[in-house]
Amino acid sequence: MLQTVATPGSLPETHALLSKLDGARLIAGGTAVMPTLNAGTDEFSSLVSLRAAGLSGIVVKDGVVTIGAATTMTELADEPALAFLQSALETIASPTIRNMATIGGNLFVKQPYGDLSACLIALGATATVSDGTATRIEPVEKLVASRLGPKDIVTQLAFSIPSPGSFKFVKAGRKALNAAAIVTVAAVVSVSDGVVSQCRIGLGGVAECAVRARSVEEALTGNPLDRTHAEQAAAKADRDIEPFDDSHASAWYRARVTPVHIRRALVGE
Ligand SMILES: Cc1cc2nc3c(=O)[nH]c(=O)nc-3n(C[C@H](O)[C@H](O)[C@H](O)COP(=O)(O)OP(=O)(O)OC[C@H]3O[C@@H](n4cnc5c(N)ncnc54)[C@H](O)[C@@H]3O)c2cc1C
Repeated sequence: MLQTVATPGSLPETHALLSKLDGARLIAGGTAVMPTLNAGTDEFSSLVSLRAAGLSGIVVKDGVVTIGAATTMTELADEPALAFLQSALETIASPTIRNMATIGGNLFVKQPYGDLSACLIALGATATVSDGTATRIEPVEKLVASRLGPKDIVTQLAFSIPSPGSFKFVKAGRKALNAAAIVTVAAVVSVSDGVVSQCRIGLGGVAECAVRARSVEEALTGNPLDRTHAEQAAAKADRDIEPFDDSHASAWYRARVTPVHIRRALVGE
């Protein structure tokens, strides 16, 4: 049963409360934590809110964007430097949820949610994690695949803004908008001299956490970005995913359609 809700005013205060309150859980926007609480849980008895801890805001400098972990999706959508993310953000839940849901919280939600995490993997984003005594910087793809320590707080995320037109995003769900992912594909693809020189692909909805599609990236690099090569590369995705059954789709269906949506994200057809 919930005993305490604390709203610390700084990161050090947040760490102090996490250490003091037994069984405390961080809450940011609460769009995942509150449904768990409302359903009845003994996983935690205290909530420590990040709302006033000074962890929100967006700074763009020299082509690098740094985003506080408690920044909401609506705030991301309002940032002109992040216009390329608009197509991804507008597929995430509803405007009401996006007013509360944070970029930090999206890293730790159960799949098939975590569309923004797939984007961050494609962007090669890093996360800064503080445990109260030290900070470390981890690639998002590693962070989402591991468990945070009990005192760990993600404080910010950072990535280089991709060159115009290089960010690609496709999400397949049961509805066009406001639906959980059957599969989410995010990619950053650079082409020079007619071939793919660099690419990073993040996938959501097709494994326990958002994953990087390294096999697809390897198959694509060095080849022209056309339908034939995109299809051949996308066929390698079965090495990168571990699809699951849920109420949105079966594992079989997710495996079947993942290469199709990777191809569509890469070449638009
Ligand atoms: C109706 C509905 C529809 C949704 N649709 C989508 C969708 O289409 N796509 C999608 O991607 N998501 C979807 N979501 C999920 C939602 O986007 C995520 O729940 C949201 O990003 C989580 O952020 P939050 O701030 O609300 O997290 P919270 O609920 O506050 O926290 C989630 C988890 O993250 C931890 N946490 C939060 N911040 C930090 C931090 N800085 N450091 C360490 N741990 C932290 C919390 O302790 C908790 O375990 C939906 C949710 C709802 C309720």
